[in-house]
Amino acid sequence: MSKSDILFKRAQESIPGGVNSPVRAFKSVGGNPIFMKKAKGAYMYDADGKQYIDYINSWGPMILGHAYGPVVEAIREKVYDSTSFGAPTELEIEMAELIKSMVPNVDLIRMVNSGTEACMSAVRLARGYTGRNKIIKFEGCYHGHADAFLVKAGSGVATFNIQNVPGVPATVSRDTLTAPYNDLQAVETLIAQNPGEIAAIIIEPVAGNMGCIPPAEGFLKGLRELCTKEGIVFIFYEVMTGFRLAAGGAQERLDIDADLVTYGKVIGAGMPVGAFGGKREIMEHIAPLGNVYQAGTLSGNPIAMIAGVTLLTELKNNPSIYTELEEKTAYLHTGLQSILSQGNTPFKINRVGSMISVHFSSEEVTDFGAAGRANNALFNQYFHYMLDNGIYLPPSAFETWFICNALTNADIDRTIEVTGSFLAGRN
Ligand SMILES: *Cc1c(COP(=O)(O)O)cnc(C)c1O
Repeated sequence: MSKSDILFKRAQESIPGGVNSPVRAFKSVGGNPIFMKKAKGAYMYDADGKQYIDYINSWGPMILGHAYGPVVEAIREKVYDSTSFGAPTELEIEMAELIKSMVPNVDLIRMVNSGTEACMSAVRLARGYTGRNKIIKFEGCYHGHADAFLVKAGSGVATFNIQNVPGVPATVSRDTLTAPYNDLQAVETLIAQNPGEIAAIIIEPVAGNMGCIPPAEGFLKGLRELCTKEGIVFIFYEVMTGFRLAAGGAQERLDIDADLVTYGKVIGAGMPVGAFGGKREIMEHIAPLGNVYQAGTLSGNPIAMIAGVTLLTELKNNPSIYTELEEKTAYLHTGLQSILSQGNTPFKINRVGSMISVHFSSEEVTDFGAAGRANNALFNQYFHYMLDNGIYLPPSAFETWFICNALTNADIDRTIEVTGSFLAGRN
């Protein structure tokens, strides 16, 4: 028995399912989860000391690799000044100013502790601001686990094929309307059926919770125009795309303006951080300026802030990081495309910047329906073959891979080579 197997057995005695977040349990890919001990750069090391090339990077935050020197040093220095005050600090202003200097359309920004909290708060704000109750989200998009979002959600909800989440009241779910991703017509229909009732449209500008799915040409622009016309708050879920697809996130890369944006992952460099922000006129409705209540004991926590400020500063000062990430992921894309083309297993690779995923599908994967029709049993075999060979992919076909800049071309070559031998074993 491996140390991970022993730890998993022990974990299940005191933690539900042995994990603190469901996708970690490997339930959809089968087998036991691997317990990690440490990580540096592009590599993770498990409890037995086995090395893995990391393609999840803590689901995105470790964009420059694990234990990134300047972040480690900044945390180490800051921790002696206390880990929390419950009173404001200058560092929080620095963080807000830094974000504003990198990202379009953010006049005011509030720090929270997770992506879930950011989205929950942004939707409450949109409802409070518009005086409307309904929201539109897209099938297969995941915006954290707040009640309103657990309707046709992606990520773990899709992985475990959970249709209706017990504990979420129908009275809450009925205010969450859903449309297929990339289907502008469906959104127009929903708006027409619910005149003057839609508070917000929330979307992953590049979807990452049903594998990676890019927005179709004109889709986001069409949504932007509908929101402007109907007085609907347009919320970009930039938890995955923020500071990753560009310094200014998907708003910058895809040249679409959002009214509110939510952040997580990269913004905290691996510490528990989220944020929501946007146009002053809307953000002014948040307490203590307005009456839309939102609060947090540990929000703007100094250790989390110094980690985020340090990482974001590196990203802001070194635009070449984004070119390198683009080149590396394109190199992986080309290599996988070429090796997989040598077999007769149908596949589709979707990629935007340093988000990429492989669906074993013969049709284009443009929405959740198509992602679900892919051969995900085959993905699970692929996952385990890669894992055995020291390559850690997301343990579900419904998750994007996240590339970090510590990854070398040799690591990528190895990934392509092992993919080739997986395929050879099947033919
Ligand atoms: C991004 C992401 C979330 C949302 O952010 P939280 O900070 O976790 O609320 C949740 N689950 C997974 C797997 C994610 O990748």
